[in-house]
Amino acid sequence: MSGALVWLREDLRLADNPALRAAIDHGGPVTVVVVLDEESPGIRPVGAASRWWLHHSLAALDAELRDRDSRLVLRRGGAARVIPELVAQADADAVYWNRRYGRVERDLDAGIKSALTDDGTEAHSFAANLLWEPWTVLTGQGEPFKVFTPFWRAAQAMPEPRHPLPEPRDLPAPADVDSDDLDDWALLPTKPDWAGGLRDAWEPGEAGAHRKLEQFVHDALEDYDQRDEPAMAATSDLSPHLRWGEVSPYQVWHRLHGELEPEQRRQAPAFLRQLAWREFNWNEYFHCDDIATVNVRREFDAFPWRDVDEDELDRWRHGRTGFDLVDAGMRELWHSGAMHNRVRLAAASFLVKNLLVDWRIGEQWFWDTLVDADPANNAGNWQWVAGSGFDAAPYFRVFNPDRQMERFDPHKEYVRRWVPADEERPDPMVDLKASRQRALDAYDRMRRA
Ligand SMILES: Cc1cc2nc3c(=O)[nH]c(=O)nc-3n(C[C@H](O)[C@H](O)[C@H](O)COP(=O)(O)OP(=O)(O)OC[C@H]3O[C@@H](n4cnc5c(N)ncnc54)[C@H](O)[C@@H]3O)c2cc1C
Repeated sequence: MSGALVWLREDLRLADNPALRAAIDHGGPVTVVVVLDEESPGIRPVGAASRWWLHHSLAALDAELRDRDSRLVLRRGGAARVIPELVAQADADAVYWNRRYGRVERDLDAGIKSALTDDGTEAHSFAANLLWEPWTVLTGQGEPFKVFTPFWRAAQAMPEPRHPLPEPRDLPAPADVDSDDLDDWALLPTKPDWAGGLRDAWEPGEAGAHRKLEQFVHDALEDYDQRDEPAMAATSDLSPHLRWGEVSPYQVWHRLHGELEPEQRRQAPAFLRQLAWREFNWNEYFHCDDIATVNVRREFDAFPWRDVDEDELDRWRHGRTGFDLVDAGMRELWHSGAMHNRVRLAAASFLVKNLLVDWRIGEQWFWDTLVDADPANNAGNWQWVAGSGFDAAPYFRVFNPDRQMERFDPHKEYVRRWVPADEERPDPMVDLKASRQRALDAYDRMRRA
């Protein structure tokens, strides 16, 4: 009997995976494939920290599949060539995948779907990685929302997101096809191996994602109102797991609507609101041109960014600006692949406003160093800070990193984890007041242009 191919991309999980479910229901062998596509035009290469994550997530997924007498098939190359090739080798007559929302990926997937269909192979796609696909939550005029609060209100008025699908207990055996060796993909850093801090901080894979979710619900959710304090472990750390789809937003949503203690229940809406920012950014990414390179508000094309001074940039990247909160955050990022949201805001604002460096340069650094870097949320948040996004912070809102520290880390509990008290500190690289004024003047010049 002909079998089915499941092409996993940003949905590296077995539970709540509609494409996998459909492939099983199809009958016959089920071959689960991941393609490392660095060839298709326009696909943005995954950043270094995310490559580390991807390696371990794939290893974990393969182990889960092997526990169920299956295995992961890895192929490298342009997906438009690799997928039809594999269909032929596996003697599959159907291919299933969960949808992606970037323009390049959508076009690629649509092309593959029509090529497969023309050849007599079924191709089906599903909603799995967003609670509300970007064409479902629209204004009364059928336009995408440009402001978060009404988007969130409209999303909440939609029918409740579907319940997650259970994990399949048995998997049909895969077709007898070759797989690349994961190590040959060379996703891990070697010379030097800078991933020690990442290994200590994270457990990529579906099991790690669910452990994190449960840990958050039991130990931290009740403190979520203190989520702005970087020293507190009050947030979920789910972002890289969501980025690679090791846990689905449906699973998270329903866990937060499930059994909770009263104090946890009180905090759940604030958490779900943050989860909705993820949806809002994907919405923006879907409806705009490439938001990692193009200002959503095109008037920002005339913004007078300063020419890049590599020494200055290096001080920011490596946490030597002389501002404790920024330096702590940039070091945390370099060490562990993550940074607390409040500190991301301060570090990004410092680069874009106090140093007057184009937000795209900061976005690229985060893209390379964050384990949760995703095209919608990274770019969306950078544009939010820069003032050029859909629902962006007003430009005149310049975060003062020292005030942010006084407010959110008054005892330097967080800062001291990354910047020891006895460290000889560089002088602050800018005067905050003067550089703030310079940013406001630059904004005025843009508006006049
Ligand atoms: C400059 C900058 C760059 C960022 N880049 C990314 C990125 O590449 N990927 C990414 O997932 N988040 C990004 N964020 C958003 C936010 O910082 C992280 O989602 C958050 O710190 C993840 O920690 P958590 O999972 O503990 O969050 P929690 O507070 O536990 O939130 C739960 C989930 O909600 C979502 N979420 C929370 N806040 C935001 C937000 N502001 N925007 C979008 N989604 C949000 C995330 O999926 C998160 O996992 C960025 C923020 C800034 C200011």
